[in-house]
Amino acid sequence: MSLNRALIFLGPPGAGKGTQSKRLAAVLGVPHLSTGDMLRDAVVRGSELGRMAAPMMERGELVPDAIVMGMVEERIALRDCAGGFIFDGFPRTIPQAEHLDRILARLGYGKPLVVEFHVSAETLLRRVAGRWTCSVGGETYNVYERPPRVAGICDNDGGKLIQRADDRAEIVRERMAAYERQTKPLADYYRDHGVLEVIDGTAPVEDVHRELLGIVRRTDDKRDGHL
Ligand SMILES: [Zn+2]
Repeated sequence: MSLNRALIFLGPPGAGKGTQSKRLAAVLGVPHLSTGDMLRDAVVRGSELGRMAAPMMERGELVPDAIVMGMVEERIALRDCAGGFIFDGFPRTIPQAEHLDRILARLGYGKPLVVEFHVSAETLLRRVAGRWTCSVGGETYNVYERPPRVAGICDNDGGKLIQRADDRAEIVRERMAAYERQTKPLADYYRDHGVLEVIDGTAPVEDVHRELLGIVRRTDDKRDGHL
């Protein structure tokens, strides 16, 4: 089975995109590309865009879209992307998606495959806001799905369980609202272009993985049929 195109995952934080994209990249033998990695890569390779971006990144500034898109194009033009690649957390906006479509067409990749992870707000809150971390060994628990034997205490080493700032309910709600504002329009954009697939992100990791493989296979067959 081959990917031979860009695979884009959409979904709110905590939907399982990171886990699934790494796993699928390994199984399909394609690169897994996050924006941060692509930027750092361009800096390391010392490309012209990398040299422009390096001082901005050092100062912690946001790198402008024009530079980011140029780096994406440089990265996916490399030989290891010839069999396809998976984007993690990219594109984030409609202008980026439109620009990416032009780059993909120019490099001969055709349309991307886009998979949206559907997870209800309650499930996300349970998954993320229910997470407590051991202050000693770093083990994670979930007060709803995998609670410790004694509330607030680690089963393994008796360490105190703490909630990371990122995992607090109000922060999770904020992130979800930001996701709705920014990423929902992206899903609509890709649906209008006929390349959006939706999967149930609440299913067990193994089931989601199998379903993703099924989607890649099915949509690949469909493309062959059009050749
Ligand atoms: Zn512990």
